[in-house]
Amino acid sequence: MTGEKVAVLVAGGGPAGLAAAAELSLHGVGCLVIEPRAEVSHRRPRAKTSSVRTMEHMRRWGLADAVRAAAPLKVAWSQRVTFCESLTGARITDFDGAFGLTTERDERFAEPGQQVPQPVVEEVLRAHLARRPAVELRLGHTVTELAEDDAGVTVTVRDAAGQTYQVRVDYVLGCDGYGGVTRDQIGANYVGRSDPRPNYNVVFRAPGFDTPLGPAVQYWTVTAATQALTGRLDMDGTWWAIMPRISAEYGAAHAAELISGLFGTAVKHELIASDPWTARMLVADKFTTRRVFLAGESAHVNPPFGGHGYNTSVGDAVNVAWKLAFVLRGWATPALLDSYETERRGVVEQTVASAAANMAALPADLTADPAAIRRAKSPEFFNLGLVLGYSYAGSPVIKGGGDGGGGGARPAVADVGTYTPSAEPGARLPHCWLPDGSSLYDQLGTGFTLVAPAGAGEAAVADFSERARASRIPLTVTVSPRDYPWHDEFLLVRPDQHIAWRAADPAGIDLMAAAGR
Ligand SMILES: Cc1cc2nc3c(=O)[nH]c(=O)nc-3n(C[C@H](O)[C@H](O)[C@H](O)COP(=O)(O)OP(=O)(O)OC[C@H]3O[C@@H](n4cnc5c(N)ncnc54)[C@H](O)[C@@H]3O)c2cc1C
Repeated sequence: MTGEKVAVLVAGGGPAGLAAAAELSLHGVGCLVIEPRAEVSHRRPRAKTSSVRTMEHMRRWGLADAVRAAAPLKVAWSQRVTFCESLTGARITDFDGAFGLTTERDERFAEPGQQVPQPVVEEVLRAHLARRPAVELRLGHTVTELAEDDAGVTVTVRDAAGQTYQVRVDYVLGCDGYGGVTRDQIGANYVGRSDPRPNYNVVFRAPGFDTPLGPAVQYWTVTAATQALTGRLDMDGTWWAIMPRISAEYGAAHAAELISGLFGTAVKHELIASDPWTARMLVADKFTTRRVFLAGESAHVNPPFGGHGYNTSVGDAVNVAWKLAFVLRGWATPALLDSYETERRGVVEQTVASAAANMAALPADLTADPAAIRRAKSPEFFNLGLVLGYSYAGSPVIKGGGDGGGGGARPAVADVGTYTPSAEPGARLPHCWLPDGSSLYDQLGTGFTLVAPAGAGEAAVADFSERARASRIPLTVTVSPRDYPWHDEFLLVRPDQHIAWRAADPAGIDLMAAAGR
């Protein structure tokens, strides 16, 4: 295969890599995804929480319904996290509506969260990409080396038989996670720390068991013999548990006893998999070179508390992939790509800090005091401020960027817990439901969208559209809903649904600057 050339090579087909391929494909750009795992394993489910924001991206790709259909635990089944003595013991307190789980229409978002194991998400994305003709998922292959020069990157890949070959590419998205090679190859290093205390994860089957506590997506067994977080993976008796402060050696020697300790009584069960792991709070010192971009865990790692790792990885992938697609389609210059790290670094750092703060109160740190639990744990389960409220203000391609922001994005989120809709440039476009039952987001194009006041400035809108056409920048125009709080202003919305520009007159919107031109 030497001599092969592609525009984009995605190193790694985990959530970040698959999301990047889906986003590129949405904009008509193909890619080659190199992924060592031929099959998706269900034995080690890793992430279980798809956030409201990730589900909104799934909706943009036409996949939200497929993810929900494939998810074993339906949102209607439970929106609750339960703190208890043990799985057969007394209830201490409940958090209802955790992780943006709701069966009601919420004005603030187009999609509620969804509890779904990471392998299920990966399978939905793999199936989607298999239907996209310009995307190749090359499974069983591994990236071993990158050599970047002015004109491109030569990527060395090892195939399943151990033979190596080279692919010449314009751009690489390094989505190869914590253990990948891209970060090292571009000379980036993680900065941060690891928690010295061990953790032990198990997946087990207990088909005959049903907790009297009723449905919940997580149970925190606060005073049980095993103080842990646990929950169902499916409705057929498969469970996961995270056991903080249990070492690999102790876990391996006492797995059955530890699992029994969750139940508070003898329950027949079978261990399926176990995983010792370390909580890490790491952010790479650089995310990019000119042609290589780290996205997801290759750029940052956080503890799983709050359910952010995979969701933040999808957020990175969307941010870099729409920009790369615009560059490759000739709609933007490579300068647009410079905004990737500026925009994502603040979000990522805040996410790592929030997940680390959540780790300060794990089951063994809590007592059976409902008020104290609510104080300590609310930011972990009610975190829409972090999930939806981050802003890219201060980015060079957001109005006002560079003139007062000190050259970088400002702190991304004001309040982790509370999402306050904002139409300030940089913010995610405030969502609303339309009278016909559709989402405002369904009216947005895949390129830029001008959300215009109803009946206002038709000539100015026509002029703006003409400017977009002349500059070859894809633009959709839609009318602001009548009762939308921002209905008297023109909002230029990017493909990722963040507001690039806001003005009383479209003549004041610099579309070229928003595309990094
Ligand atoms: C035990 C455990 C529990 C977790 N629980 C949660 C949770 O509850 N909630 C949550 O949000 N997150 C959780 N996470 C974190 C979550 O799984 C990650 O944040 C997420 O998988 C990151 O996605 P990614 O695509 O960036 O990286 P990964 O999922 O690690 O994907 C990287 C991909 O790159 C591939 N790869 C590796 N090396 C190479 C190479 N040289 N060439 C090409 N490809 C390569 C790998 O095979 C893999 O498919 C957990 C993680 C672990 C380990």
